[in-house]
Amino acid sequence: MKSPSQTNAIDFDVAKLQRLGLGQQSPLRERPVSLAQLRQKLSLQLQTSLEPQRILGLFFREIQRLVPLDTLIYQHKASDLRLEFGLRGHHSISYSLSHEGEHLGELVFRRNQRFSEQEQGHLESLLSALMYPMRNALLYRAATQSALRDPLTDTGNRIAMDQTLQREIEMARRHMQPLSLLMLDIDHFKHINDNHGHSAGDHVLKAVAASIKSQLRNVDMVFRFGGEEFLILLSNTNREAAALVGERLRLAAQTEDYAADGHLIELTVSLGCSTLLPGESADSLLRRADSALYVAKREGRNRLAMAG
Ligand code: GH3
Ligand code: MG
Ligand code: MG
Repeated sequence: MKSPSQTNAIDFDVAKLQRLGLGQQSPLRERPVSLAQLRQKLSLQLQTSLEPQRILGLFFREIQRLVPLDTLIYQHKASDLRLEFGLRGHHSISYSLSHEGEHLGELVFRRNQRFSEQEQGHLESLLSALMYPMRNALLYRAATQSALRDPLTDTGNRIAMDQTLQREIEMARRHMQPLSLLMLDIDHFKHINDNHGHSAGDHVLKAVAASIKSQLRNVDMVFRFGGEEFLILLSNTNREAAALVGERLRLAAQTEDYAADGHLIELTVSLGCSTLLPGESADSLLRRADSALYVAKREGRNRLAMAG
């Protein structure tokens, strides 16, 4: 459904998904601001931030001058974003926000008292102040997130890996927990490219990344380290447990047939495993996993080697 487009000709839709808790009109209490004043104030205030939490927090606080609320819930699945402000109420109104066909999230207003028709009109009108700030915040969020991802395999890139590894080492020290690292490299990957073409090779890389992620609890800890090399961070995992995970990954790669270019491609992987030593740097931990990987290659591939 199209929203009643207000004074300014902003190109946006506010589709009403559902209306619950309708009924008798509640008398409109006296408010210190008019709808027009509040709209203007909001459109100035909201565009000062690119942080969804702050934009929606301000919005929640300000609109209450016109429409008292108990809760505001915002959800944008594509960004893996869910924010909730306030307490739960019995009555709710939900809106699906979109702008020129682009989905900008779901918004739910809740409170214990029913919403009057007029209040709903106000909410819909005030939502327009949210459109551009939220769109910009979501774009900004997507841009900063994609700067940390490898687009081909949808794993973390080197920048993400450096940041995460540093953070995990600090966490492991603080909580006195073990931290292990697996470096995984596809065996004879060059042959796959040579025999089936580069795009089949890309396809296989994607499939190997998906297979690694499907074997792990925390998919955020998989990084593409180089061309056909992946790094897996195992927090709170000691040497023995890491060896089991590594062996599971090796077996999964060996068992799986990867379809590419109309062929079923068989492959194996080699892995090197290192576990954080007291006082060890990120570089040293990486170097030891890499040396172990080199040993695994030298000893015949399709195997896991543990760093000394
Ligand atoms: P080894 O068992 O010793 O690891 O042999 P290998 O052939 O896997 O290793 P090598 O390092 O000799 O070759 C890696 C190949 O990976 C060479 C490179 O062309 C290919 N490669 C690197 N990045 C990509 C990519 O993004 N896509 C594709 N299709 N190939 C890639
Ligand atoms: Mg290789
Ligand atoms: Mg390699």
